[in-house]
Amino acid sequence: MQKTALVCGAGGFIGGHLVKKLKEEGFWVRGVDLKFNEHAETKADDFVIGDLREQSLVRSVIDRKFDEVYQLAADMGGAGYIFTGEHDADIMHNSATINLNVLDACHKRNIKRVFYSSSACMYPEHNQLDPDNPNCAEDSAYPANPDSEYGWEKLFSERLYLAYNRNYGMECRVARYHNIFGPEGTWCGGKEKAPAAMCRKVAEVEDGGVIEVWGDGLQTRSFLIVDECVEGTIKLLRSDFEGPVNIGSEEMVTINQLAKMVIEISGKDVRIENVPGPLGVRGRNSDNKLIEQKLGWAPSEPLVEGLKTTFSWISREVKKRA
Ligand code: NAD
Repeated sequence: MQKTALVCGAGGFIGGHLVKKLKEEGFWVRGVDLKFNEHAETKADDFVIGDLREQSLVRSVIDRKFDEVYQLAADMGGAGYIFTGEHDADIMHNSATINLNVLDACHKRNIKRVFYSSSACMYPEHNQLDPDNPNCAEDSAYPANPDSEYGWEKLFSERLYLAYNRNYGMECRVARYHNIFGPEGTWCGGKEKAPAAMCRKVAEVEDGGVIEVWGDGLQTRSFLIVDECVEGTIKLLRSDFEGPVNIGSEEMVTINQLAKMVIEISGKDVRIENVPGPLGVRGRNSDNKLIEQKLGWAPSEPLVEGLKTTFSWISREVKKRA
């Protein structure tokens, strides 16, 4: 019998790539989102436009016993959306409501396996003050002290999924994603992440020009290409390990280094100007010891390779818009 999957947030960046992968594997896939993906035609067999904050919609979408459910829908964005404080109430209310609804509807359909995408943003701020030595090992999560309400909601929802495992015999799987990037993601409008923002700025600027980078540019991060994120996601869902576990790259760079890599790929002569802006924590890097131990897997693609494909996709988008 053909296997079935539900992808919540299928109109989004990672959800769109995940649908593609599940279709390649031969699944029948239903996607649900507030919107279609802006950048690529959906590959889902059935796509429901709807609001997962509404219980009646959630019940109608979860109308059968799917083999696999992936819950990626969230109210999110890059630093310009999450760290200004202006969207805190929406972020917490919207994402928590989605998780409460989807998880309970799955439980009531006797669906066991649900994947939940948490975020590295749930790690304590005090472990991420030193840009050269951030601590994002899974067991450093408590005592909790995320630097954003987005991170607090992720922490709450992680606990929610694991509580359903304990109390209702579900088999939910929780990953903590670290900065996922790649083609067909948000690249303008304020919700884009650093790699997409750098690619857009460099694609738009003239040879000999200047791009702005937020902060002193010495804050550190690691970035994972979306294909490897999807691979790790599927592996975790089908494994015996419930998590939470990091899915991210361990190749840590400063934001200025990231900008320089993109500039080099472009072949342009571009200068960086560091300007004030929303920043997030000082340093962050994935710690992949646990995922290697539990799944025998960790991502391996060098950052520069992912940046090349992302830059060429964003350059095309910039030209199309012009
Ligand atoms: P995205 O914003 O592209 O996708 C999320 C999707 O959820 C969007 O298409 C949005 O329309 C949908 N959505 C929001 N509210 C909804 C609602 N009420 N009903 C139905 N759909 C709704 O984000 P993404 O980068 O694909 O991230 C997917 C998941 O991974 C999110 O949960 C995010 O928090 C998590 N995550 C992502 C990253 C990253 O770097 N991209 C890092 C850490 C965690």
